[in-house]
Amino acid sequence: MARNSIRWFLAAAVVAFAFVAASASSGTPPPHSLRLYVFDCGTLHVDDMARFQLKKEEVSTTDLSVACFLIVHPKGTLIWDTGAVPDSAWTPTGNPITQHLVLPDGQTRDVTMRKSLQSQLAEISYAPSSITYLALSHYHYDHTANANAFAGATWLVRQIERDIMFSANPAGAVQPSTYSALRDSKTVIIATDDYDVFGDGTVVIKSAPGHTPGHQVLYVKLAKTGGVVLSGDLYHFPEERALGRVPTIDFNRDQTRASRAAIEAFLKQTNSQLWIQHDFVGNAKLKKSPAFYD
Ligand SMILES: [Zn+2]
Repeated sequence: MARNSIRWFLAAAVVAFAFVAASASSGTPPPHSLRLYVFDCGTLHVDDMARFQLKKEEVSTTDLSVACFLIVHPKGTLIWDTGAVPDSAWTPTGNPITQHLVLPDGQTRDVTMRKSLQSQLAEISYAPSSITYLALSHYHYDHTANANAFAGATWLVRQIERDIMFSANPAGAVQPSTYSALRDSKTVIIATDDYDVFGDGTVVIKSAPGHTPGHQVLYVKLAKTGGVVLSGDLYHFPEERALGRVPTIDFNRDQTRASRAAIEAFLKQTNSQLWIQHDFVGNAKLKKSPAFYD
């Protein structure tokens, strides 16, 4: 081969490699260290505080935040919880819009939405189809809304939770149509209390049953921020934690108490923060994507 041809061949190979690498990661090169993004997935208005064994006078607000999270690791990405209202069910206008949800069993909920999950992902150059892993804290409607958009990811779930999700009548506030596509997803059944997602101890799904049988929380070990545990629904209101209240809606309230004790011990042992995902006041203080924690 003449020298010019070799040069041309090498240049073409570099371009082809760059193209493949870029399409595999949706144009975003992976960062060198771990990042945690917080998305605004709405505000849930609670009208029945008795469900949480609390009175209106005992809480600073009856609103709950709905949060979704993206963990970006050098080896891949994990979406943790997917909101209460599917992106396909409403159109953002730039102003808050309150959606009235009617669940299959007739229960209703009002959720105020500001941004779609997909637009928040797009803002940091991710498409749902580019995400490596999907994990849900549990199967209730306010965590599964956009799950179908991540059916191309590998789903990390416990057998007991998956069995309930695809049973004839899953208990609790559910919207099975929002996660039906996961039935055919590539799935990893988690059979241990702890599941180390990327194999280096920095992103660990931890069993915390009680709210639902396969409920789980997520430990993220960040270089600058330190350890953070995303609570799922281990607690909803910070007052549940302060006053020792357990929601009446939990699948097994004794199991919830035991899971709370275990996670509180873990927080102490690792000197980690607990982010109560539904804590409206706590969530308001978190920086939101495109800013991130590292
Ligand atoms: Zn919830």
